[in-house]
Amino acid sequence: MLVKVLNARSKRSTIIVKCPKCGEVGILRAYRKNIFGKRSYKIIHDDKRSCKITILDENWEEINQIYVRIRL
Ligand SMILES: [Zn+2]
Repeated sequence: MLVKVLNARSKRSTIIVKCPKCGEVGILRAYRKNIFGKRSYKIIHDDKRSCKITILDENWEEINQIYVRIRL
């Protein structure tokens, strides 16, 4: 699912993933943690669409692992 990471050592790195929702690549962004302390994610596509990945989505775990491995 992970496509590429630009500037992996930087906090401002760009994580590009294949979106589990629409199948297109996009930039992975985390936004706030929910009441369970879990992050939600957005995948931002070129045409300004974005897909939201929350804990309720079956692909959340995979997206979360990618994010945690790269950012933390
Ligand atoms: Zn998408």
